[in-house]
Amino acid sequence: MVNTTIKTTKSQEIFAAAQNLMPGGVSSPVRAFKSVGGQPIVFDHVKGAYIWDVDGNQYIDYVGTWGPAICGHTHPEVIAALHEALEKGTSFGAPSVLENVLAEMVIDAVPSIEMVRFVNSGTEACMAVLRLMRAFTNREKIIKFEGCYHGHADMFLVKAGSGVATLGLPDSPGVPKSATSSTLTAPFNDLEAVKALFEENRDQIAGVILEPVVGNAGFIPPDAGFLEGLRELTHEHGALLVFDEVMTGFRIAYGGAQEKFGITPDLTTLGKVIGGGLPVGAYGGRRDIMSMIAPAGPVYQAGTLSGNPLAMTAGIKTLELLQKPGTYEYLDRITQKLAAGLLQIAQETGHAACGGQISAMFGLFFTSGPVHNYEDAKKSDTAKFGRFHRGMLERGVYLAPSQFEAGFTSLAHTDEDIEQTLAVAREVLSSL
Ligand SMILES: *Cc1c(COP(=O)(O)O)cnc(C)c1O
Repeated sequence: MVNTTIKTTKSQEIFAAAQNLMPGGVSSPVRAFKSVGGQPIVFDHVKGAYIWDVDGNQYIDYVGTWGPAICGHTHPEVIAALHEALEKGTSFGAPSVLENVLAEMVIDAVPSIEMVRFVNSGTEACMAVLRLMRAFTNREKIIKFEGCYHGHADMFLVKAGSGVATLGLPDSPGVPKSATSSTLTAPFNDLEAVKALFEENRDQIAGVILEPVVGNAGFIPPDAGFLEGLRELTHEHGALLVFDEVMTGFRIAYGGAQEKFGITPDLTTLGKVIGGGLPVGAYGGRRDIMSMIAPAGPVYQAGTLSGNPLAMTAGIKTLELLQKPGTYEYLDRITQKLAAGLLQIAQETGHAACGGQISAMFGLFFTSGPVHNYEDAKKSDTAKFGRFHRGMLERGVYLAPSQFEAGFTSLAHTDEDIEQTLAVAREVLSSL
């Protein structure tokens, strides 16, 4: 049915040249396909649910530029709004009404957010929120979870997920011990471990930060009671609860995982979807806490390009598109069809597998599971995942090149795309 011997000559040439120019040939590690083997493909353009490489091959895309493309790539309304904004200038470095518009949309959508500050990436948002947590509580220690990724700032590079997990790296060289000595870690979904850390570090813990639904160790949802338990524990100990919704914000639900699960953290970080494909991050939360940020308060954080008009425009238009009735029902339906289909096919073809989905986020682990945390996820057959990934790629399906990354769907994915993907998966999984 599908051509399995795709020609990727141009991709290979460009990537070979890139390796002399940039470390590993990429601008961000997971893109290099190290964990799945083989060469990455080099993109030429994207549209809707599809990407085209420089050799002219077309793929159904389940990476969606790692999350932002929830309305589909190059949505005509986003592009039109960007054209209009472009004529007025690419950066002001000064206030614009667009920031008010996006801020109001974010505040209306996300239960915990009463005030927001825009930055340029998820990493920046998480760095800033950590400073704020410490300033507000006047405590230094934080708790994070194994396999959760909060960007590449020093303090978070302890048992971090995403590329760090993918490449099996320990904590990165160059990170001083002093930067991580206040970072405590616990296994995800393990309330007892968190409780013990609070007991051992009484009145020293500023807060707990987590991905409320993990995407950077593969897709791992919270067990019933876990988020509630963290909310209670942080209250009890005078610590802050921070949801890193850089991935889950506007994806798990319009109001993020906090809306979906009905748990309101004190602070929230955002990124990915709110930039609509341009570089944006944000952090926000309770007004009394956010009022500590300069120039309203003493906690310093700034950015030359922060709140820039192009990024604000893409974010506003993307959120407008997501507000249309039925969008999240649609995302949930097609993603459920995909995730359930993949799992069923894997089992029918004799592979140990487990996986799941919430809204437009999904995952499949090559282990019988269940997967409650990163330790469980690491039992996956990553070599098999590599062969699966390559087989899918050669048949026109672009999956995240790591067992430890979640998959993403968009409003542009059709039932036909899902059915085609499942047919390809059956072919590949039967051959593994
Ligand atoms: C992607 C991601 C980040 C980092 O965002 P960047 O924009 O890549 O810096 C932080 N936290 C989570 C949960 C993410 O998924």
